[in-house]
Amino acid sequence: MSEENINGCTGDCGSCGANCPSREPESLIEPTGEYNNIKHVIGVVSGKGGVGKSMVSSMLSVLMKRRGYNVGLLDSDITGPSIPKTFGINSRAMQNEIGILPAVTKGGIELMSVNLMLEDRESPVIWRGPVIAGAVKQFWHDVVWGDLDYLFIDCPPGTGDVPLTVFQSIPLDGIIIVTSPQDLVSLIVKKAYNMAKMMDIPVLGIVENMSYVKCPDCGKEFNIFGSGSETIAEELGVPLLGKMPIDMSLAQMVDNGEFERFECDYLDGAADALEKRFGK
Ligand code: ADP
Repeated sequence: MSEENINGCTGDCGSCGANCPSREPESLIEPTGEYNNIKHVIGVVSGKGGVGKSMVSSMLSVLMKRRGYNVGLLDSDITGPSIPKTFGINSRAMQNEIGILPAVTKGGIELMSVNLMLEDRESPVIWRGPVIAGAVKQFWHDVVWGDLDYLFIDCPPGTGDVPLTVFQSIPLDGIIIVTSPQDLVSLIVKKAYNMAKMMDIPVLGIVENMSYVKCPDCGKEFNIFGSGSETIAEELGVPLLGKMPIDMSLAQMVDNGEFERFECDYLDGAADALEKRFGK
């Protein structure tokens, strides 16, 4: 009699709930809706809020759209959604018999955010973790994204409940970590990196935001928060995909809902890297 049979193992994990070491871990990945064909899903994450994760998700979405790809942007930052405002979208999401319809920006990017579902945009979303996580899964499954080359997911900051749900239930092809050049934040970068690694999600690289300020008179660049992303990227063995300065014109375009008008090339290298890795 084999050892398996002595222990009562039939070799059929599907009909047995025993938690033995040889058991394959169950995937928690959820399929997207039947009307969706999404080729590449990229998560944009940060160790903490306010470092420009939404700015980077939005800029990458616009850059890839300008390069001719079909692009969607899922704002999974449920308690601090800022994407619709960035693109000047004030409408509420509509629904038809097959699902929830995303808003479409002037440039043709499909958007979904909890702000499109709220009657009063200024009301806070006072939901507990599991409800928020459920809303993110619903955006992945129930929104009629259709055919997309790239879906960017603006993840909630940190390594808590909701980012964990995104990592576990959405089949991410990779994540981009956004950081600002401060030591303390860099420690949190490592946490975000380790979380992705533990869940076998490729880390595509790091974007350093608020890297420097350029003097409008003399053009000199000042690294007011110091620098350190090169070191972190090297330490983690991932590319530094780009550096964005503090650029008041970008902040103004966000505030005016006219973000698609930007003309800078700060993240062209990051868009090149995506195109090189994933293509169409
Ligand atoms: P997060 O998504 O990480 O919370 P946001 O992208 O919402 O951060 O950025 C926080 C604020 O900082 C926003 O008002 C945004 O417009 C502004 N901001 C972000 N990056 C820059 C930048 N490079 N230059 C100027 N303002 C920026």
